[in-house]
Amino acid sequence: MLKRKKNKREGMDPHIRSLMKIVGEKEILYKPEDLLSYDCDGFTVHKAMPKAVVFPENTEEVSAIVRYCHMNNLPFLARGAGTGLSGGAIPLNNEVIISMVKMKKMLHVDLENRQAVVQPGFVNLKLTHSISDKGYYYAPDPSSQYVCTIGGNVAENAGGAHCLKYGVTTNHILGLEVVLPDGEVIELGEAGVPDRPGYDLMGLLTGSEGTLGIVTTITVRILKSPQGKQTVLAYFDQVEDGSRAVSDIISAGIVPAALEMMDKTAIEGVEAGTYPVGHPPDIEALLLIEVDGILAGLEEQVEHILEVCRKRNVREVKVASSEEERGRWWANRKTGFGAMGAISPDYLVQDGVIPRSRLPEVLQNIYDISRTSGLRIANIFHAGDGNLHPLILFDSRVPGETEKALKAGTECLKACADVGGSITGEHGVGIEKKEEMRFIFTEEELEAQMRIREVFNPYDLLNKGKLFPTPSRCMDVKKIVKETVAVK
Ligand SMILES: Cc1cc2nc3c(=O)[nH]c(=O)nc-3n(C[C@H](O)[C@H](O)[C@H](O)COP(=O)(O)OP(=O)(O)OC[C@H]3O[C@@H](n4cnc5c(N)ncnc54)[C@H](O)[C@@H]3O)c2cc1C
Repeated sequence: MLKRKKNKREGMDPHIRSLMKIVGEKEILYKPEDLLSYDCDGFTVHKAMPKAVVFPENTEEVSAIVRYCHMNNLPFLARGAGTGLSGGAIPLNNEVIISMVKMKKMLHVDLENRQAVVQPGFVNLKLTHSISDKGYYYAPDPSSQYVCTIGGNVAENAGGAHCLKYGVTTNHILGLEVVLPDGEVIELGEAGVPDRPGYDLMGLLTGSEGTLGIVTTITVRILKSPQGKQTVLAYFDQVEDGSRAVSDIISAGIVPAALEMMDKTAIEGVEAGTYPVGHPPDIEALLLIEVDGILAGLEEQVEHILEVCRKRNVREVKVASSEEERGRWWANRKTGFGAMGAISPDYLVQDGVIPRSRLPEVLQNIYDISRTSGLRIANIFHAGDGNLHPLILFDSRVPGETEKALKAGTECLKACADVGGSITGEHGVGIEKKEEMRFIFTEEELEAQMRIREVFNPYDLLNKGKLFPTPSRCMDVKKIVKETVAVK
């Protein structure tokens, strides 16, 4: 009997077939086993499966995919490297994930005007590596910079250790090309024009957590590498002395390029990790401080820092004696989150902001939360700008412990909000902290922000369910009306 050869695409979901026509057969994943690694990002306590993952190579393909999703009422979202820590790239609604990893070219470098143009999948650190031999670099340096993408950085308005002096991502973005949720391509900002009249839409897009549009090209500011750097490591017997030294350094008029802090549990973790540097195991806190700029004056700033630390009873303080030593200290710090895996099966990263002067009191609150929850909390953070990262250590195999960790995380954020701080400094709200938005915004303020999202994303197909708490009151009614229209 003659057997008909089965067509590979027979029985295939028609949406997958249509998306395949846009990006090509090899640039789409849709089988459950291939989709597994896209069920979460760096926020691993929540998982959900996407419908498909597509890998466009240019703006036209992104626009065509988005237009298709828009016309067919398919939820979709963008994904960079998936290092986000608040669940922004988790496909809550069985989204089509638009992965930017194939859009990873540097398109143009203009050293004279100190700017570079990159595609969104370009890896952060690669930018500095591409221009450092010419004496330039890109300032925002999240600790994940080895893998995270500039597109993801724009979406999260990423910060980093050196953002204390140089500012966060938004201060380094000069222009964006964006695909709106209906597929239209727009350009924001004009490279070389410092301040354009009208609303700052580029500022609005930066930090909007992938809910207003998909960034497809980015013009960034690049900086001249500083003439010199000096890095100081200070060990304290009391956390309070270390945290008071942070305020003292800033109020002495010194603006370090970076001012980082770790407490005892964090030090235990980094010393058990891949880049130990031999910190004494019995100290309660350390500060890693860097100053940079023209050589003249650097020594003086370091002397000033040493003096402040001595006044705060520092046990030992040293200055990096070589670039190699400085590099080791920074590797120890920048791999700090991952190093917690050496002392705990799981950890939850939190990201609150507080006025710097309230550091001693908020750290004490965090230690109290640790005691009452019975979970260890390591603190490793950007102390100079008051951006705390309590890392809650837990074991997800122990029944109830994940819930305990989440509760402790919320309590840490409440402690930050209660002193006039914020629930996120750089990791975003995502799905993780959307209910905690109520700690800092009233219902009316939240609704005003949701209306902005409606303007850009009226059918709520792009990254739905992120950033804002479950709406209440009139917002519910408006959504029902909108969803009815979208289905039509
Ligand atoms: C070990 C570790 C250390 C970290 N340290 C820092 C730190 O020091 N500072 C800091 O700020 N963050 C830090 N992070 C968090 C994370 O790396 C940043 O938020 C980073 O900006 C995310 O980039 P990504 O490419 O991984 O984006 P993803 O995780 O893929 O996506 C993040 C969000 O951006 C959206 N998105 C991605 N690409 C686009 C695009 N092209 N257009 C529109 N939206 C898009 C996604 O939909 C999602 O909502 C750290 C994470 C880890 C795991």
